[in-house]
Amino acid sequence: MPSSNLPENAEAAKAEIRELRTQINYHNHRYYVLDNPDIEDKEYDLLMRRLITLETAYPELITGDSPTQRVGGAPAEGFLRVAHLTPMRSLGNAFSEEELMAFHQRVINGLAQTADIEYVVELKIDGLAIDLVYENGRLIRGATRGDGYEGEDVTGNIRTIRSVPLALEHESLAIPPLLEVRGEVYMPRKAFDRLNRERSAAGEPPFANPRNAAAGSLRQLDPQMTSKRALDVFIYGIGIHEGVDIQTHTQMLQYLQKLGFKINPLYRVFKRIEDVVGYCTEWAQKRGDLAYDIDGMVVKVNDLAGQERLGFTAKDPRWAIAYKFPAEQAVTVVEDIFTGVGRTGVLTPTAILRPVKVAGSTVSRATLHNQDFINEKDIRIGDTVIIHKAGEVIPEVIGVIVEKRMGKEQPFVMPAACPECGWPVVRQQGEAAHKCTNAHCPALFREGLIHFVSRDAMNIEGLGPSILTALIDAKLVTSAADLYTLTAGQIINLERMGDKSAQNLLAAIEASKQAGLARLLYALGIRFVGVKAAGIIARHFGCMQAVREASFASLTELNEIGEKTAESIVAFFAVPENLEFIERLEAVGVVMTEEKPQQTASQLLQGKTFVLTGILPTMTRTEATAVIERLGGKVTGSVSKKTDYVLAGSEAGSKLDKARNLGIEILTEEQFRQLVE
Ligand code: NAD
Repeated sequence: MPSSNLPENAEAAKAEIRELRTQINYHNHRYYVLDNPDIEDKEYDLLMRRLITLETAYPELITGDSPTQRVGGAPAEGFLRVAHLTPMRSLGNAFSEEELMAFHQRVINGLAQTADIEYVVELKIDGLAIDLVYENGRLIRGATRGDGYEGEDVTGNIRTIRSVPLALEHESLAIPPLLEVRGEVYMPRKAFDRLNRERSAAGEPPFANPRNAAAGSLRQLDPQMTSKRALDVFIYGIGIHEGVDIQTHTQMLQYLQKLGFKINPLYRVFKRIEDVVGYCTEWAQKRGDLAYDIDGMVVKVNDLAGQERLGFTAKDPRWAIAYKFPAEQAVTVVEDIFTGVGRTGVLTPTAILRPVKVAGSTVSRATLHNQDFINEKDIRIGDTVIIHKAGEVIPEVIGVIVEKRMGKEQPFVMPAACPECGWPVVRQQGEAAHKCTNAHCPALFREGLIHFVSRDAMNIEGLGPSILTALIDAKLVTSAADLYTLTAGQIINLERMGDKSAQNLLAAIEASKQAGLARLLYALGIRFVGVKAAGIIARHFGCMQAVREASFASLTELNEIGEKTAESIVAFFAVPENLEFIERLEAVGVVMTEEKPQQTASQLLQGKTFVLTGILPTMTRTEATAVIERLGGKVTGSVSKKTDYVLAGSEAGSKLDKARNLGIEILTEEQFRQLVE
């Protein structure tokens, strides 16, 4: 990788520039024309940045054909080339808050304006840019961006995207004789996953990400193929717009929406750059909540006259910038596959990866779920793979880069003997999981204990897997109940455990006695009883005694407690060892009750059933669900006659249609807020 130092002299700079241009042109071709990049975006961005640095230091070496002066890639063979009516530029990048502030400063300088500048901040949809031309309201052409001046004519393919209007109509607005709009064609994540599943089943290589899948699908020579690919579009810009009177970017978005174009509703207007930064970082966190990928945010000067004054560089507008998020994908190597045994005896393979930075943290493991998952993706030890990590979610292997195979890669086979105890491993018919057959496998107890103390269960801080293992090895803990009789003297002897840490640990164990029935029920690790079910049961029955005595019928009467869960609970309390264990916990003072919810204002939504659909303007689904449940209501996944309300945001789909058909009350986020406040 080139260093950030400048070369010794102009000759050396010239050589490095030549080398960088060759490399960048090669990657541009793979990315823009073949839809099959072979380096990561951030590596590409580094090459580009280095070239910009050198060209800034040696401006005499800039040539018109340098990749820094040109947009995208040349149109591919096989498509008709078309010239855009106005050039389609790219966007400059900001990779940090400082770079966003520097952009703001450039705008201030460019406009010679000291007062606040109004910015529109939009999601940066990770797809490919398209240009649509309408003559007298009829779509006559759709083209890719290509090199910014000439693109590929993909009209036939564009016409298969249902959210692209083929004819513009409005009852009061005059339809301009010539209108050129710009937007992003993208593939929603669900469609992407489905497509990749189909491709692996057909033995075809998977697409690395929804962006490549969208580009590959739009640039099919046969529109029939494109029509099968569930592409969608968001429109965010305008080119030629004869006779249209608009002064700001937001007016333009609203105007285009009225004409029938699909606009992403999550754009916001801010006057303070701090708020711009705030909104960008907000979406960096929440991007996983969307149904489609975004790779950053786009910040634009709202005033069109201001945009015009700022103008363009050869490649980018000076009035807009892309604030790029850290990449969520990376390429690395599977160095080994490790098989762990969980608290139910299930063997789970985990890929041990060559450490790689993704989404701001270093990843060295990814779950491989089970043998079927490995077989389906054909993941072998030694393979080069693409991994994905979003937010707090466990990293996943998306696919293998088969072209990088050298022939020494080893297929993985689940061990026939348990790696913990050596007992035979079996796979029940119809199940994906392989299981250890030893009911007393040491892994079961250890993993059960790790679950017992975990955050959503008894939440004993400072009691991580290594200390638990040390406690087990020292035979200090043979049941979770033993945790509550540990003494400082016993744990101080453990490796790396000082006096202070021992005291803290004892205090955390003591505090966990108050965790309450819901957490305790979850901590018991009863099959099918997750955090949610444990909460419902605890709130309903109020104390352990009542749960112990609950019948199958009384459990299934509860909302959202299914037959399998009820069966499993009844079976759990029929085992004498389990009852003995609970009695031991009770004897040491672990609280066995849950306060019943108060029957006051907090029961406002008692008995009401909600269905959530689409993207809400400010709340996440988790937040809305929390509000509903706090007030006594419940959230279900599908609309039926029993649904009381449908809380609908933008991009709501079939659930909204169904609610309309059934005459169910539909609430916007604002109406919902009024209801609950
Ligand atoms: P870009 O993706 O960084 O930004 C410009 C594009 O953003 C626009 O053309 C438009 O398509 C899109 N966009 C999405 N939402 C938008 C909105 N609301 N308003 C305006 N535009 C919006 O620029 P680019 O020139 O398309 O591509 C550069 C990117 O491609 C970089 O991230 C680079 O890393 C990657 N790349 C990677 C390789 C590789 O080999 N890995 C090669 C070439 C380019």
